[in-house]
Formats: sequence, C-alpha cells, structure tokens
Amino acid sequence: MAFLSDAINRIKPSPTVAMTGRAAALKAEGRDIIALSAGEPDFDTPEHIREAGKAAIDAGHTRYTTVDGIAELKRAICDKFARENGLDYTPDQVSVASGGKQILFNALLATVNPGDEVIIPAPYWVSYPDIVALAGGTPLIVPCPAEDGFRLTPESLRAAITPRTKWLILNSPSNPSGAAYDAAQMKALTDVLLDFPQVWVLTDDIYEHLVFDGFTFVTPAQVEPRLKDRTLTMNGASKAYAMTGWRIGYAAGPVELIRAMAKLQSQSTSNPSSISQYAALAALTGPQDYLETSRAAFQRRRDMVVAGLNDCPGITCPTPQGAFYVYPSIKGLIGTVSAGDTTITDDETFANALLDETGVAIVFGAAFGLSPHFRVSYAASDDTLREAVARIRAFCEGCRRD
Ligand code: PLP
Repeated sequence: MAFLSDAINRIKPSPTVAMTGRAAALKAEGRDIIALSAGEPDFDTPEHIREAGKAAIDAGHTRYTTVDGIAELKRAICDKFARENGLDYTPDQVSVASGGKQILFNALLATVNPGDEVIIPAPYWVSYPDIVALAGGTPLIVPCPAEDGFRLTPESLRAAITPRTKWLILNSPSNPSGAAYDAAQMKALTDVLLDFPQVWVLTDDIYEHLVFDGFTFVTPAQVEPRLKDRTLTMNGASKAYAMTGWRIGYAAGPVELIRAMAKLQSQSTSNPSSISQYAALAALTGPQDYLETSRAAFQRRRDMVVAGLNDCPGITCPTPQGAFYVYPSIKGLIGTVSAGDTTITDDETFANALLDETGVAIVFGAAFGLSPHFRVSYAASDDTLREAVARIRAFCEGCRRD
C-alpha cells in the first residue's frame, strides 16, 4: 500500500506472535491445541512483587515519572549489576524502559544510520533484524550451526566485521537455542572486538538467571572491562521474575548513549509504567529465592523435553545451557511424508503439518534464521510437555519415505 512508509514495509510481524495467534484461533474453534510457541514463563509473578505493585497504586505512584526510570530503581539496577555481574555503573549510566524490547529499539534507533551493519548471530531472537531494518541499518546474519553449539566463533566474528559494522548483538543464553557462552568462549569473542574499536556490543542478558548444570553466566563487559565503554548491557524483569506483562527492561552503558536513548523515549512512550517500576524495584531488592525455584523447574523440564525429543525418529535435540527453549533439528524428516500426507520439505511445512495433525504449536527455525530446526518453549506444565512430546513422537513415527 503506497500510503505506508518504507520503514514499515521493511519489517514483518513477529513470527512467534503469529504462531501463538494461529494456535489460539484453532483453540477457539474447539481444537485440542498445545501451544509451545510463546516465550514467557508460565509461573505467576512472585507474591511480594505483586503486593509492591498494589502498594504503589495505593501510595499514589500513579503519575508520570522521570523518562528513563525512578531514581530508586536506577540505584537498585546499579546494585544488581555490581552484585551479580561485577559491573560498576552509576545511575546516569542506567536506562529503564517498557521491556527489554524497548531498550533494544531505543539503542538501535538512536545509533544506526542507513548503511550501518549490525552483526546478528543466527539463530537469533526474531526482533533483532527487524529493529535494525526499521532503523535503516543492515542486519548481517552470521550462521552459527548446531555443530558449533549455536555459538558465534571468533573466526566467523572476525570475518563478519567490516568498516561499516556498528554493533554486534549477543544473546546468552539464547532465544531460541538456549546456547550460552562460558567465560573462555566469551573472552575469545571480546578479544576479537578489541581489534575493532568501531564495533559496539549490545548484549541481551535477559535469560541470565536461567542457566543449568552449574553453568556460570558471564557478560561481555565483565570478562573484558576494556570493552565497557562501548557495551550496552541489557537485562529485564520479564523472564527472571515472571513479569512479562509488567513491561520493565533496563540497560547500562556509556552516558552519551543512555542520554540519547532517553531522548528518543521522551518522544515516544515517556516513562515505563510507574506501578511496574515499583514492582521491579521490589523484584530487584526483595527476596531472590524465586530465581532458584524457577531455574530448577526449567532444568527439570529441559531434561524431560530433550530426552523425549531425542526419542522421536528424525529429530536430534542438543542439550542447551539455558533459557527455556530447545532448538532441535528435523534434518532426518526432510523428504518424508506425514500421516496426513504433507511432504516435509522444510521446517515451516513441518511446523504447519505438526499443528494441523497433532495440535502442537511450535515455531519453525526459518523464523530465527537457522534451518532446519524448530523451537520448543518448555515454559509449560510437566503434564502438558509430556503430552506434547508424545504427540510429536507419534507424528514422527507416522512420517514415511514414499
Ligand atoms: N530479548 C530476548 C532474547 C527475548 O526472548 C525477549 C522476549 O521474548 C526480549 C528480549 C524482550 O523481553 P521484554 O521486552 O519482555 O523485556
């Protein structure tokens, strides 16, 4: 449509939201649907955080606040970075927004010029390339196959950098693969970046607390302090504290960038919800036992799902280090014909046939830039996951080679 802008025509709707919508529509028609397509914890926000939200309303914290966060929350975020990541930031180096997504949006819109390149390892979270494209930049996708543990290698990072590279976006643990970088792997990447002073790092640490089997989370500015003045360290309340609907994300980085992000936010959404900011303050300063409770639950579910999927003919499922996703390969199913007579030509035909024939909604790998895979979000009850895996197994067992 000619009326629409070039910028809006450069982007597409979020495929994960689309799949979840398709599953919801089928459910509304009365179909028995199991949706493992959404990226949010299935737990309730912990009670003390909910109470802090209610108390904020009663205390009259219902007005505009400073654009990029109330002073108490910024202070608590500085304490969090010092306590958990060994990073020293001052409140003027901190920005709070309506979700981590808005932080990314602010940072990229505030810095990317037409022709600038942003390196995005694939598989990637669906929004990164679209936000870069909206800003007029060029997403430079670097494939990180399962053989490399879905991790960017120092060699492929070095090969991807050009004089136009503005940012490297890192996401550990990753949505959709669950892959995470240990200290040595992260150091190998930051060593490369030391050779290229024009490249900034945008690190999306939103799944920081969901790491398994004793894995130690690290973030780039922590392993390489010399990169701190060109790193934006992003995090948020959504996944750590089951607060997706509250919409609080935050980041710390150089003051000049933080000011530019606040300027953009002042002309768009203004401040994040005042009530949510007080709830996030309680999340960061209150008891932290929920973090371990949810981590342990997700580790148990990961083990169940990985074992169950590796039992499905044609599917290979690596064991991720974190987040609440697995990213199995369907290589062994390509070219087969399902019981419902669909030829599985790629991960998209697989996802559609699986939904039509079994009612299980997952997201196909092409949406995340690396095929032939699919993403399962195991943020669902044990019973739901058991049933979903049984249906996927039955589907795979029904696939034949004509
Ligand atoms: N980054 C990653 C990797 C995510 O998976 C998500 C949500 O799915 C976000 C950022 C954004 O989260 P929020 O905007 O709720 O903070």
